[in-house]
Amino acid sequence: MLERGVSQLDAAQICATAVPAAPLQQSLALMLQEELAALDGSLAQGFPSWGLTHYQVPLYAALMTAVGPERSAGPCYRCGLPSFELEQHAPARPDLKRIFTHCPACDVLFDRLQDETPVQIHGVNPVVSGSTVTRELHIANHHDTPRLFAASLFIEGDYPWFEVRFEPAAAAFEVAPGAVLIAPFEVHVHPRTAPGVYRLTAFTTSDLSWSLSVEPFVVSRPSAAPIFLRTQGGAVGGMQRKH
Ligand SMILES: [Zn+2]
Repeated sequence: MLERGVSQLDAAQICATAVPAAPLQQSLALMLQEELAALDGSLAQGFPSWGLTHYQVPLYAALMTAVGPERSAGPCYRCGLPSFELEQHAPARPDLKRIFTHCPACDVLFDRLQDETPVQIHGVNPVVSGSTVTRELHIANHHDTPRLFAASLFIEGDYPWFEVRFEPAAAAFEVAPGAVLIAPFEVHVHPRTAPGVYRLTAFTTSDLSWSLSVEPFVVSRPSAAPIFLRTQGGAVGGMQRKH
């Protein structure tokens, strides 16, 4: 929800002060930028709790139509295998064109607006349960003006055997023109988390142009102490627990 907007009354009051046109436009642009940044921040904070999947198949199936054949998107930035992308348009919204990128090994990589640069997730796998690791978002700004981004991380699905906390829960960043910002997030994985492959998803938004990036988040057990077995002859041998 907007806490502060430009109502007709506000606009009339601004005009009545006889502010020169250029400064008025600048101040309105600044207000709009602040409001959009606030909305981006609210979206980034709220999105993880919405429980949406990165596929969002029901939504896309109803609203989006694949356009053209699937095309090559170059080597996957995670594993190096060939990746592919599919363009999807919304017939009811000609301005809404999204690109869906995937890799045969990593599955879904990006879901973004056509004009947006993919936000990469960097970090080491596997992650040992009970540990804290870092995930870095690489956020590029290919515009010729600074851009404000808001971002958050979450794990797709609601598993009773998975418990994780992200720090910060959501954050905002300003990225300089032509720059790539590296935004670190700490991921605290609870010791009770079961080994497996989960989907860590990054939600990023700028001026309400939102993108999803997905990483296979692999959790393993801590190295277990050796199990000692007593043989029939009384000898004691050790073996490592298999994971
Ligand atoms: Zn890959």
